[in-house]
Amino acid sequence: MRARIAGALGCICAALGTASLGTPAAGSAAGRGPGGAAPAPEAVRVLPDAPVQGDTIVVMIPTVPGGAAAVTFDGNPVETFRAGTARRALIGTDPDVAAGPHRIGLVLREANGVVHRATRTIRLRAAHFGVRRLVLPPSTFGLITPQNLETERRALVPVLGRRTPVAWWHGVFALPSGAPIDSPYGEQGWYNGRREWWHMGVDFAAPAGAPVTSANAGVVALARALPLGGNTVVVDHGQGVLSEYLHLSALAVAEGSRVDRGTVVGRIGATGLVTGPGLHWGLYVNGVPVNPLYWTRAQQDLTAP
Ligand SMILES: [Zn+2]
Repeated sequence: MRARIAGALGCICAALGTASLGTPAAGSAAGRGPGGAAPAPEAVRVLPDAPVQGDTIVVMIPTVPGGAAAVTFDGNPVETFRAGTARRALIGTDPDVAAGPHRIGLVLREANGVVHRATRTIRLRAAHFGVRRLVLPPSTFGLITPQNLETERRALVPVLGRRTPVAWWHGVFALPSGAPIDSPYGEQGWYNGRREWWHMGVDFAAPAGAPVTSANAGVVALARALPLGGNTVVVDHGQGVLSEYLHLSALAVAEGSRVDRGTVVGRIGATGLVTGPGLHWGLYVNGVPVNPLYWTRAQQDLTAP
């Protein structure tokens, strides 16, 4: 039976992702004003209407020249980036974000200093993730050492912390492999009878050597061998969105390379914390490991052409 526990790697990243929400956002310190012309809070779009755990919530804020916008999610600042003439905040959700109501805080400042404050409540729906039980040989489990975890962390923290101001992606994300998905996002993992981390990406069951392609345009932020991820490629799509491709047999790109949707970044392999060939594909939004399949469908203000 093929088994892999890439979730162990994802777990590190999830912990970091939560910390990254503490990054201060610009424009939140202005005083309260009497109200006035656009941008008005009513013009702000929050999508999707009925988000599920794993979805990416988009806050689209029309801005005026010289104006500014700040966004919080449950009180934590979320960085905003330019999207056309608007500012856009991306809020990643995952199984650790509780189902139920969450607060999105908005502070909109006009060029003349007038400030509008508003709160939106979104209701996150439970995704009902499955369970996967894996039995791993001691040699595989033996890879999880403090030294390996530290090596992995040191390589990934700065990479997943990148917040490139421009969005390089365009349109929907493509699946990085034509192979069938054999382990979906969000499954709760039990390894050798012990409850471990939930699955922070999507696994593809593919023969070794099959091509792995970039899901969208971006810049290769990391392309190197890691103890748990194996041969790993991380693509920075800009604005805090990064995709990762783990366990490759060979790397086809170098750090700093520009890639487009469909560019071959490596070959399917069985390197790192796995017991058989396959691809683990993950997608991070401001440090949160979201469901990458959400990005493979046309979503307004996010992946719509
Ligand atoms: Zn995986």
